[in-house]
Amino acid sequence: MCESWHERFAEATDCLKSARRRQTVVPVLDLVIGGDEFITMAGPCSVETESQLMTTANHVRRAGARVLRGGAFKPRSSPYTFQGLGLEGLKMLAHAREESGLAIVTEVMSESDVPMVAEYADILQIGSRSMENYSLLEAAAHSGRPVLLKRGMMATVADLLRSAQCILDHGNPQVILCERGIRTFETAMRNTFDAAAIALLKQVSHLPVIADPSHAAGHRDLVPALARIAVAAGTDGLLVEVHPNPDKAWSDGEQSLDFAGFDEMMADLDPYLALRGLASHDRELSQRERGRPRCEAVGSYYTEAVG
Ligand code: PEP
Ligand code: MN
Repeated sequence: MCESWHERFAEATDCLKSARRRQTVVPVLDLVIGGDEFITMAGPCSVETESQLMTTANHVRRAGARVLRGGAFKPRSSPYTFQGLGLEGLKMLAHAREESGLAIVTEVMSESDVPMVAEYADILQIGSRSMENYSLLEAAAHSGRPVLLKRGMMATVADLLRSAQCILDHGNPQVILCERGIRTFETAMRNTFDAAAIALLKQVSHLPVIADPSHAAGHRDLVPALARIAVAAGTDGLLVEVHPNPDKAWSDGEQSLDFAGFDEMMADLDPYLALRGLASHDRELSQRERGRPRCEAVGSYYTEAVG
């Protein structure tokens, strides 16, 4: 690695690649994040009801996801919007793990909630708004669970790596970095997806890097394109919002894919994964269940002829 990156990220040296450490892999249940398998984490923004969560878990699993996401504690920019089901949501997530076999990632917002969330979750998510909450990072590190650390919306790559360093310093090497878009002068999208940060993090850091195209885009029609860009940039996996009925979602419906949209996104990632020598997602869905039919020969969708 170029010497200047070492200087630039000197306060996060343990996150940086070295001759001794090329890549960290994070084992979670029966899967490994940062290894040879591309890991898609998918599910609703918020846990709402048992049936919403279960139908989503079953669908995303059969479409190739390996981890179920869902927020039980929601850090909302407005105090007047849904704040999450709390413990009840965590119990639903644990039940969904039992039924689907998927690992669970969910956000923890407060230091005092860490032991409770760690009891139910397989991976603790530290949200964008909490990336620099050092007492939360310390508590999450001590939980012994892997930590998915989202980049703050106003954070530089160096800031992100410093926060990751803080978790490593507190004895937890199982850190997964997540690019989820940053605030810029562009307002058409919810955030500006920093694909270059993915390429840079993959170049300089041994920690697994995943991408969240949903919070970056803010609009569901852009999510598949950002997912493809993330794969091309070298991400180890994705974190994607999926809802059975996005227009009725209690949070982030505009950026959530419905089941057919998720299936299409997953199918369209295959050639991009193949370019990196990665296997396609292991899918169980039948052709009929997989949204719109694909035309195998040319890899595009049939369109209705209109007269
Ligand atoms: C989320 O994953 O639902 C979330 C709140 O993300 P972020 O912290 O990136 O805004
Ligand atoms: Mn969300």
